[in-house]
Amino acid sequence: TKATLENIHATEPDVDAFISVNDEGALAQAKAVDAKGIDADNLFSGMPIAIKDNILTKNITTTAASKMLENFKPIFDATVMEKLNAKDIVMIGKTNMDEFAMGSTTETSYFKSTKNAWDHTKVPGGSSGGSAAAVASGEVIAALGSDTGGSIRQPASFNGIVGLKPTYGRVSRWGLIAFGSSLDQIGQFTRTVKDNAAVLSAIAGHDDRDQTSSAREVPDFTAGLTGDIKGMKIALPKEYLEEGVDEGVKTTILAAVEQFKALGATVEEVSLPHSKYGVAAYYIIGSSEASSNLQRFDGIRYGYRAQGAKNLDDLYIKSRSEGFGDEVKRRIMLGTFSLSAGTYDKFFKKAAQVRTLIIQDFENVFKDYDLIMGPTAPTVAFTLNDETKDPKAMYMNDVLTIPVNFAGLPGMSLNAGFSEGMPVGLQLIANKFDEATIYKAAYAFE
Ligand code: GLN
Repeated sequence: TKATLENIHATEPDVDAFISVNDEGALAQAKAVDAKGIDADNLFSGMPIAIKDNILTKNITTTAASKMLENFKPIFDATVMEKLNAKDIVMIGKTNMDEFAMGSTTETSYFKSTKNAWDHTKVPGGSSGGSAAAVASGEVIAALGSDTGGSIRQPASFNGIVGLKPTYGRVSRWGLIAFGSSLDQIGQFTRTVKDNAAVLSAIAGHDDRDQTSSAREVPDFTAGLTGDIKGMKIALPKEYLEEGVDEGVKTTILAAVEQFKALGATVEEVSLPHSKYGVAAYYIIGSSEASSNLQRFDGIRYGYRAQGAKNLDDLYIKSRSEGFGDEVKRRIMLGTFSLSAGTYDKFFKKAAQVRTLIIQDFENVFKDYDLIMGPTAPTVAFTLNDETKDPKAMYMNDVLTIPVNFAGLPGMSLNAGFSEGMPVGLQLIANKFDEATIYKAAYAFE
């Protein structure tokens, strides 16, 4: 833990992956593990792990990278924290992110911008950019993130590491600051596939406090890593190589496809015809759910309270106007509009119908295939502070990750190679609760 803290402090000036480093708390936890004695059967005993700052950590400031929660100290731990603490991990720090997980670059953070681990002039992706950069730069061996529309997979892709969004319901969302509740899922970043599988086994499982959490048994995800994928049937959606996908990304992914064939898998082209409507539907559904979830930040119950309000309404308005950043306000307005009487049928209902079509596309493919494969993002990491990027162009970066959240499927990004000197992520998508197949394929490829 001491070495990890030293390394973090030496690396942070270049990377800025953390909002807060838990120096004293981490050392106290490490001492407690020492006192108990390292448990040789427990992989996690004394292991420093970083946590995205939208996952509640008891008595440790949890900001969601917002001014709204700048000084918020939760009074309880998220379920994933309870599970990790029971395994005697060391909570080394809280990582930077886009404000309330809204963004694809970690630049909407109220506090600072994180830098890509490979090139400090580039974005780390988002919204879990801090967790991804912390792992990729060697600050930590594992970090937790959250993924509503790609926020684990896209930063994993941009930083050349392994990031998995589990099946919706696999990991409890209790204690995750809610963004889009029908889409949100906690997952993990690591350098290797096997480490990733081990962390998922540690955080997964049913939780009475999250009604959408599944009662399914949690397998040991490290068990099926044999390297043998002969006969595995893989689908390559043709839409995933169109839709503005850069040439360099495409070439790298096609080379990965050849590698899977050489390993004995069959790879065939399929179609997911409705995925191109995913971004439009996501920004309606995700924003609608966000507008509802973020109502609780009213200047009374949580977080920032504006000074000098004349009455109650004024207090709400002032606190929210001053406490939320531009991207969050954009989502709240879009969501509130989409849910309003008069626009509901044209926007929210239509988007929900599109979502169903996207789910059916996946169901059709999984009748015949074990796995779907394609790029994680259409590009490699782009330049920091690129003012030319308008919000709509930014939203398009999620085109290949969003459909997976709509269908609640598990999805991984792992490194497939490099284009223009930057990492390219390969996305592996499996049927619900079939993370094991993803791990098997990823392990053979890695
Ligand atoms: N980039 C997407 C957004 O801004 C996804 C975010 C996420 O998965 N949390 O909404």
